[in-house]
Amino acid sequence: MIPNTAGRRISRLDDLVAALPTDDRLRFERIFHLQVTSGQTVPPETMSSWLVDQFGSVDSVRAQRIIRVTNLVTLEGTLFNELRALRPIEAPPASEELEARISHRETCAFCHPFEQTPADPMGRIRGKMVTTASNVAKYDGWHAVLIADEHYPLSLTAELVADYLDVAQQWAAAVHQIDPEARYPFFLWNCLWRSGASIIHGHAQIAMTRGLHYARVESWRQAAMRYRSRHGSDYFADLIVVHRSLGLAMDVGTATILPSLTPFKEKETLIVAPVLNHDLKRALYHVLQTLIERLGVQSFNLALYQPPLGDTPEEWTGFPYVFRVLDRGPLTLPTSDVGAMEFFAQSVVATDPFRVADALRAELLSTNET
Ligand SMILES: [Zn+2]
Repeated sequence: MIPNTAGRRISRLDDLVAALPTDDRLRFERIFHLQVTSGQTVPPETMSSWLVDQFGSVDSVRAQRIIRVTNLVTLEGTLFNELRALRPIEAPPASEELEARISHRETCAFCHPFEQTPADPMGRIRGKMVTTASNVAKYDGWHAVLIADEHYPLSLTAELVADYLDVAQQWAAAVHQIDPEARYPFFLWNCLWRSGASIIHGHAQIAMTRGLHYARVESWRQAAMRYRSRHGSDYFADLIVVHRSLGLAMDVGTATILPSLTPFKEKETLIVAPVLNHDLKRALYHVLQTLIERLGVQSFNLALYQPPLGDTPEEWTGFPYVFRVLDRGPLTLPTSDVGAMEFFAQSVVATDPFRVADALRAELLSTNET
């Protein structure tokens, strides 16, 4: 089912929550803390025309409504400012110069992976459109690069996205077989330089760690365990129900797409599914298509939180596969999109999750996906 979120705004989340049936409202309040506040400014007359150009009106700058959402389970949170959300969310189209820089293949090592990248000790895994290489400077003991045949990093097809995931999972299984202690896979994808990617050529990565999952993933596992023991219900299932009650959940078969109520940065979208199957791969493709084609995203970070391979001392029962995808801003923007607030306090985000939901809905309807 595709919800209609037209007219809904994050800046009125308090009203939307207040209007929920009691069960849904209590479930929301079990997971999220919501604080609404306003900020006042007194702009001089001399700023008026600039303020109108930037924000539409002087009054909208005089009184600003700020929505602070905190996930009480994971203790992640976001500040949404209605004023910032008024700004257009699409990036300008890439200039010819920018296109030329992205398309430049002459000195690209990843265009020649067999000659210009190392293999892992166990060799390479070759999919339909993706080949693995051993990462030259590793995050961890096992760390591979998944190199697409296609250089241009924003040219995605459903087949390519599925192949990245298939090859990554095959690589993880092969590593686990050789080194059974390595059982915690982490798939990640940094696309273009604002995301931290050092190579332009389309590529994702996968690492395998030992002893304990990576800190942020383990933090979510522990949070879900605490939630289950405190409330007797499944955290991820309830997270989906809360988003759905507000019109922020879209299904692709067994996978559910959720524009996050506590995005770490712009347009963060989660995809939650019980297994890494065809539905989840298609859902990921649709989210990336929506971000790139409909919302003008040029640079993104993506990660997959997944349960470990084999037995572990910790309890992972019920932990789903969860993709996290977010936008890192226009490639021409000279300033960073993260600062002290994001690192040390609570993220500040402009994009309204309901507008991300509108774009996802339009994409899914256009592909007859639901
Ligand atoms: Zn290349």
